[in-house]
Amino acid sequence: MITKTAPANGVAMARLRPEQFGELVFHKEVMRQYLSESALEGIQRWERGDPISPELADEIANALRQWATERGATHYTHWFQPLTGLTAEKHENFFEVYGGKVLSGFNGNELLQQEPDASSFPSGGLRSTFEARGYTAWDPTSPPFIYGRTLCIPSVYVSYDGHALDYKTPLLRSIEALNASVRKVVSLFYRGVQRVFPTLGIEQEFFLIEASHFAQRPDLQLTGRTLIGAPSPRGQQMEDHYFGSIPERVIAFFEELELEAWRLGIPLKTRHNEVAPAQYECAPVFEELNVAIDHNQLLMDLLQRTARRHGLECLLHEKPFAGINGSGKHNNWSLSTDTGINLLSVGKNPRENLRFFSILSIILRAVYTHADLLRATIATPGNEHRLGGNEAPPAILSVFLGKAVSQAVEALEKVPELPKLTDKTPLSLLIPRLPSLLRDNTDRNRTAPFAFTGNKFEFRAVGASAHCAPAMIVLNAAVAESAERFIAEVEARRTAFPSKEMAILSVVRDFLIESRPIRFDGNNYDPAWQEEASRRGLSVSFHIPKLLRTYISSSTQKLFIEQKIFSSTELHARYEVRLERYVKAYGIELHTLLDLLRTRVLPAAFQYQQQLATLLSSPTDQALATSSAPEKLPQQILFETLQAHITEIWKGIHHAQKIWDEITSLPNVEEQASAIFERVRSCMAELRMHADAVEALLPKDLYPMPRYADILFTVR
Ligand code: ADP
Ligand code: MG
Repeated sequence: MITKTAPANGVAMARLRPEQFGELVFHKEVMRQYLSESALEGIQRWERGDPISPELADEIANALRQWATERGATHYTHWFQPLTGLTAEKHENFFEVYGGKVLSGFNGNELLQQEPDASSFPSGGLRSTFEARGYTAWDPTSPPFIYGRTLCIPSVYVSYDGHALDYKTPLLRSIEALNASVRKVVSLFYRGVQRVFPTLGIEQEFFLIEASHFAQRPDLQLTGRTLIGAPSPRGQQMEDHYFGSIPERVIAFFEELELEAWRLGIPLKTRHNEVAPAQYECAPVFEELNVAIDHNQLLMDLLQRTARRHGLECLLHEKPFAGINGSGKHNNWSLSTDTGINLLSVGKNPRENLRFFSILSIILRAVYTHADLLRATIATPGNEHRLGGNEAPPAILSVFLGKAVSQAVEALEKVPELPKLTDKTPLSLLIPRLPSLLRDNTDRNRTAPFAFTGNKFEFRAVGASAHCAPAMIVLNAAVAESAERFIAEVEARRTAFPSKEMAILSVVRDFLIESRPIRFDGNNYDPAWQEEASRRGLSVSFHIPKLLRTYISSSTQKLFIEQKIFSSTELHARYEVRLERYVKAYGIELHTLLDLLRTRVLPAAFQYQQQLATLLSSPTDQALATSSAPEKLPQQILFETLQAHITEIWKGIHHAQKIWDEITSLPNVEEQASAIFERVRSCMAELRMHADAVEALLPKDLYPMPRYADILFTVR
């Protein structure tokens, strides 16, 4: 059954060559080769906010076309990020035909702006089909790149009325807001900082399975996860996959992936086996947030394409297999200045330490104030199955600081004095001749959804298939708001304290005290934490439809409108889109499940029943049956057990269909989503239980699909 496809590009061909980094990217270095001095100056002025002239746009377009066609490109596209969570592209070739002559057809206008038909993307009611116009516009903060034979121009996407229809527009606005407010805080400590920007390093988890197995599982194909499947006797109990030796085929896949990623300027750095069998992770070095997110979107596509070339399928779903770990995307986030300071690095002197605690307190207050909104960003159907599972962060949002930082914070809460905090301390191994180890100021806590990890925060609750922007927009905006408040407080208290430093410290202290409930260094998996969290007033329930309402709460509206990131209309539209997608995802899952049961599971069960019936009606068995009464024959027991499950499945299918009809007749998407949460999930779980029981009874060759044990342990 298994197709052992040899790697298309062979191990030797796909070797990482550092000199190939970014060769498919129109980055600053390339611009210098292809553009005139005056054009380069024009771009600099443009980056500082001046409008771009038609002549400059034409010159850049010309250079881009020349560079791209020299590298084999034939088409170009605005590459944008609609609310599907995927990227979108509409290719045009570089040529115009006039009177039988072929001319170049790519100029400044086409570089700057395109007008794709907007009617078929989710908009949450921001446009109707008869007003379909939408515009894409070049985002010059993310460089163009060649993907296949197409020049991709990273772009924002807005409606005819200028409403954001994508993830990039509000993301860029949030980066601006963050810069404006955190820069004011930074100016309390440093001179000459022109710009503050968020950095992001995204660890991406995924599964790799045989392409042939994938092809035989409609549930994986249509929904991304297995909707039925009895557990494999072996799962992840042995804890031997994590960081284990990477299988040969997977190494070949990684080598090609890394080479392609490097050529596209994605600085992939790390690769390893993850906890679950068949699960892997890769991570690039962090970059400026906007570019890191573009790169992650591109990487997800690259992962899937590369896998297919190796006879594999890459699963990005948050929980492809019940009972074993799901996949996430750890968002390592920090703040940097254009002068090269990581604002979350622990200081070497009191002034820097005060900066560290200021930024830390601003972030803690931000996360505390908007914890529910941050949870709403990751409240997706995929995460519904993943969060709270082994290794996955729980659905309660808390922040882990680690022992050293926690102790310092607690000391500061008691006495308004700057605590000492060192970056690394030596660790004795008691073994001579081994190099001495340095201990970080934070330990690790895998159970925390939002963890301080030395010089950055790691938000671990984002789903593996998700677009990172929703979570990062909220984090940026919340930190910007908190920074504004910080500055206002420092200014208000300035005269009441003998020094600026003491005024700052008093604000830090108040921010830390205010946000205390969100800090938790313990085990997030401990059931007692739920109670403790409720006592602290943190939200515990992961009722997705209710959680999504946070998108339109008054504190969310205030946050986003003040920061000029979303208008109220745009927020309502996002809320609508999220609900719609929840309803649609469940609609697809439920109908795929019913279809699987009707067309695969039940027929297989009937077939086995028939075999058993034949056995039971054969003369020898009849004789056996009558002679050894009252005990039932195994065939008889099997037949009856199967019958019980078949009956339940049959009833369940009709029940589910009825529930779905009732739900779709509800008047609005809000009620539909809630009804799904309350009624459909339990119905699907019940059906699955019976289907899995049937799978466990059927002979191997009668079960119509590859099973967990086949899927999880064959790629070597
Ligand atoms: P882990 O040990 O948490 O699995 P990894 O090495 O897999 O760590 O990933 C850590 C990620 O954090 C990398 O992408 C790394 O580049 C990123 N990172 C490191 N420093 C920063 C920073 N200052 N800002 C953002 N991300 C950072
Ligand atoms: Mg990692």
